[in-house]
Amino acid sequence: MGFDQFIGNRKIVGRIRTKLKQERFPHGLMFAGPEGVGRRTFALMVAKALNCPLQGPEDFCGDCTHCRRIQSGTHPDVQTVTVEEEATQIKIVQIRQLLSTLEMKPLEGRNKVFIIDPANLLNQESSNALLKGLEEPPDNSFFMLMAVNVHELLLTIRSRCQIYHFAPLTLDEIRSQGITDEFAVRWSQGSIGRARSADIAAIKAQRELVLDFIEAAVNAKDETLRDMLSASADLSRTRQDFSGHLTMMAAVLGDILYLTEGTPDNVICADIRPRLERLASSAPAERWVRVSEFLRVMENSLKGHINRQMLTDAMALVTAEISDDNPVKSR
Ligand SMILES: [Zn+2]
Repeated sequence: MGFDQFIGNRKIVGRIRTKLKQERFPHGLMFAGPEGVGRRTFALMVAKALNCPLQGPEDFCGDCTHCRRIQSGTHPDVQTVTVEEEATQIKIVQIRQLLSTLEMKPLEGRNKVFIIDPANLLNQESSNALLKGLEEPPDNSFFMLMAVNVHELLLTIRSRCQIYHFAPLTLDEIRSQGITDEFAVRWSQGSIGRARSADIAAIKAQRELVLDFIEAAVNAKDETLRDMLSASADLSRTRQDFSGHLTMMAAVLGDILYLTEGTPDNVICADIRPRLERLASSAPAERWVRVSEFLRVMENSLKGHINRQMLTDAMALVTAEISDDNPVKSR
């Protein structure tokens, strides 16, 4: 067990290990990047390396009492500050409590580590309080801030941290984690967390619904228009599902565009490629672009109070225009 176990982002791992070895470790680090690429796992690994007595200074054993307690969140010198239950922001009292321990020596380990997660939920007050700690940290205190998007943090906070941008994992890196379903690998968008937690059967069922809808719309003739609008009603039933359906529709339309553009490697639904190719070839690429643009309008509308049924009906009609021999087109 050690840094070798970390999946992906090897350059960041290498740079951090070099810094650990030099024993001039930065007091403020920010790990930015999408959810599920291992930023938190990596922060705990760094905390272990800063405290493990067996494999130092640029690695950790994973087995000693320090490593184990850091992993389980019970090490007295490694604190994670996060949003309390039923709160929406990290409160200033939490940061004050952290700062009150800053000048104390580590209780059991070599170094104190404070993980702020997610740092974008620091409000103005708590950010300013944290700034005091970041400005003059004691030699053996280190801060690691987790953020999806660094621009959500105050510039004063960002400027006191070294920022590392974690990239999504490659398809091969996801596959190396024992994810065998090719759709799950591609649906993960480079997030091992998403690959592991996704309910693939449910997502594929949702994909069926979306594909039925697009196919019905593309193939609609006057007499089947009613069927198509009932598919639209299926799709618009509840707000929560609706948002998921739009995400899936964006994925399917994206795949169709990849196929028409001749970049099939990017296709997410590679497991149903023949079906997508049939759809792609049923209309010129620019019309698929138009449907995708309409989808974006729908996604934006979702933020407000909208009539979902009306939108999916409109979507069905826009999609139906696609088919060259379609009577709807001539209206
Ligand atoms: Zn250890």
